[in-house]
Amino acid sequence: MVSDFVNEPFLNLTDEQVVTHFKKALEQVGSQLGGNYPLIINGEEIYTEEKITSLNPSLSDQVVGYVAKASLEQAELALSSAEKAFGTWSKVKPQERAEYLFKAAAIMRERKYELSSWLIYEAGKNWAEADADTAEAIDFLEFYAREMHRLASPQPLVKIPGEQNELVYLPLGVGVVIPPWNFPLAIMAGMTAAAIVAGNTVVLKPASNTPVIAAIFMNILKEVGLPEGVVNYLPGSGGTIGDFLVSSPKTRFINFTGSKEVGLRINELAAKMVAGQRHIKRVTAEMGGKDCIVVDNTADIEAAATAIVASSFGFQGQKCSACSRAIIVKDVYDQVVQLVVQKAAQLTIGTAVENYPVGPVTDKSSLNRIKSYIETGKNEGDLLLGGNTLESMGGYYIEPTIFGNVSPNAVIAQEEIFGPVLAVIKADDFNQALEIANNTEYGLTGALFSQDRSHLERARSEFHVGNLYFNRKCTGALVGVHPFGGFNMSGTDSKAGGRDYLLLFTQAKVVSEKL
Ligand code: GLU
Repeated sequence: MVSDFVNEPFLNLTDEQVVTHFKKALEQVGSQLGGNYPLIINGEEIYTEEKITSLNPSLSDQVVGYVAKASLEQAELALSSAEKAFGTWSKVKPQERAEYLFKAAAIMRERKYELSSWLIYEAGKNWAEADADTAEAIDFLEFYAREMHRLASPQPLVKIPGEQNELVYLPLGVGVVIPPWNFPLAIMAGMTAAAIVAGNTVVLKPASNTPVIAAIFMNILKEVGLPEGVVNYLPGSGGTIGDFLVSSPKTRFINFTGSKEVGLRINELAAKMVAGQRHIKRVTAEMGGKDCIVVDNTADIEAAATAIVASSFGFQGQKCSACSRAIIVKDVYDQVVQLVVQKAAQLTIGTAVENYPVGPVTDKSSLNRIKSYIETGKNEGDLLLGGNTLESMGGYYIEPTIFGNVSPNAVIAQEEIFGPVLAVIKADDFNQALEIANNTEYGLTGALFSQDRSHLERARSEFHVGNLYFNRKCTGALVGVHPFGGFNMSGTDSKAGGRDYLLLFTQAKVVSEKL
């Protein structure tokens, strides 16, 4: 019997022992920076001439690691290897497949300080954000392993006399997993683990900004004895091998998390039948957000301001769940804005290793994109805080930036910025606030701060997002507790960390026997 799922607790970062442990792990990982990581195809390590250099965004001349870069031939080899492994892996008992996930989760729990340290160096997460990422990775493995147990057990069907009926969930085949850099351990591991525990085999193309943590995850899969070829690790350029993998007739499904542009491109490429293809490719695509927090005139102003700051500037706003619009009714607008600015102004900026509340954004091109949105914002609202990039600090730093009196249709109120930039919008009343909240092509997360039951109930049915929160921040979904995914251009609403997720990587077969 498998025990009930419980979320992995977060570390208590005020505990001195925890801090000492963390510092030691950071030092140890620090001494391992600059290593070389090969492709892994059918269990074989392949070093390539061309490499991806993974940099520390906090100190951009520090190399975290050099990772092999796959060619088209190697991408084809990886697909063949996954195809071959599928023959045996798909026949391994589901409970046995789940066992690999449980074992990997146990190792990750034991090595959590080390894994979080890699995230701090490679993704620029501060300690709490890195710890949450590692905890979520453990949760995904523990949760999906249990989910496979549930799906492998007899499924409820209506009984009729004279027949015995059974429904079983079968895997699909070879999948391509393309995770994002912003939760480079949790989402990468979760997307991969769900696919393989359901009996599929995959080619994992890690995000080019964070391939090292994925290589470390591969080592853990090796340590637990996962058969060769079940997960093939294939870093490389999206434009070349990404398109190639998605377009291959061998590919049965694509599991993607990232930008809207790339998600739509994958969807389009995957829809095109190619010679030798015998199936419709299934696409799971989790994309962007233009999430907001609405504050009405009955709200706890202090709590609302705290949540807005946490949701907007946690991990520098680089979450698809991040609050990039605060919509505040006019009666409390000045009070809320003043508090938000005051709280955000207290956030200090510096390296992730030194655990500053605000760290760097992921890379130079992100910095430039966000900078140009800030320039646009200067013509669209009143700059209330920040607005500067801080290149002289040696990393990709941007001040937490707040614009006030932004129009709901302004560019910075419509386009996903994916950085520490908040647009504050004034609404006449709750009705208008809700209208503005829904005035977006996205629909991922949202929050409402209100003590008015009728407002909460209206939002429950009319606030059109996949993850709606009342009187709390709009980031930080927990596995099993808040299955995660959104509407419209936010993606296919896959609900990662929920009971619907594994079904995306299975097909159900019914066998009916006349008695
Ligand atoms: N699940 C995360 C949260 O609730 C966000 C994931 C993402 O940014 O892709 O904050």
